Amino acid sequence: MTDRTGAGVGVPARVLAIDVGGTKLATAVVDATGAVAGHAEVPTPPSADAETIFRALETAIARSLAAAETPASALLGIGVGCGGPMRYPEGIVSPLNIPGWRDFPLRERLIAAYGLATVVDNDAKAMALGEHWRGAGQGARCLLGMIVSTGVGGGLVVDGRLLDGAHGNAGHVGHVIVAPRGPRCACGAQGCVEAIASGPSIARAAAAALAAGAPSSLGGVAPLTAETVAVAARAGDPLARALYRRAGRALGRGIASAAALVDLDRVVVGGGVSQAGALLFEPLRAELARRAHLAFTRDLVVRPAALGRQAGLVGAAALIFHGEAR
Ligand SMILES: [Zn+2]
Repeated sequence: MTDRTGAGVGVPARVLAIDVGGTKLATAVVDATGAVAGHAEVPTPPSADAETIFRALETAIARSLAAAETPASALLGIGVGCGGPMRYPEGIVSPLNIPGWRDFPLRERLIAAYGLATVVDNDAKAMALGEHWRGAGQGARCLLGMIVSTGVGGGLVVDGRLLDGAHGNAGHVGHVIVAPRGPRCACGAQGCVEAIASGPSIARAAAAALAAGAPSSLGGVAPLTAETVAVAARAGDPLARALYRRAGRALGRGIASAAALVDLDRVVVGGGVSQAGALLFEPLRAELARRAHLAFTRDLVVRPAALGRQAGLVGAAALIFHGEAR
């Protein structure tokens, strides 16, 4: 006997969740309660060709299915969160940080290999949906989920629905312009949130300030990354603290604009740079309070993401479980 999702009665429906990143490929079996089983990870083969990367992904998938004791035939579908850009909903991906995949037909290849309904979407959109389902976004009416990491990504969940936009890119808050004369962004524009608040942007600004002679304990630090800048900031280094204030302010400004545009009631911020905690969140909230004056933007709640390293997988699973609402 099966219920409408095809799972046995009393057994929650399960999906295969895949999180494709520039450093690792993570997979797991996730059930309809959000429980994660058989978490497996393989390194993303650096500078490998398309087929080598796909084989590495298949290896991780086989490990997950074995560890979760779940045959592919018992699954409801496959949800994939992947770095952009991509063609959505076709799932033809060209992740900036995986040069071996350019116009790689990831969705089609997964369907051919496993014969399951498959959704491939932007990893930040998946994160937003996952945090809304099981994380810090639960109960929000209009949620912006943000990943502040190598880039700054985002996704919008409105009334329980993940917004796609005309090309599948709705929620790209990292490219809201917050400093028209600010640093050049990888997208070609100037002063985007991402050009100031991403991990590499923080590291670049630190290097530039040191080269200009700014006094700082960062002088002898290598490698210079958002993490090492955070360590120096916690130890009281004035340059490092100023760089996090600047990043937090850029995020606060971007969020204020997004809040006015779509009437947000909550923002969830995750990703490696958000691990800096108060260093980032204090200036972010202060700037948001300074910039957001409309009655409906004043009570906006900003929270750190709650799902940690499983956010990508839970979000990928949500693409299938909440697909019917899209
Ligand atoms: Zn940009």
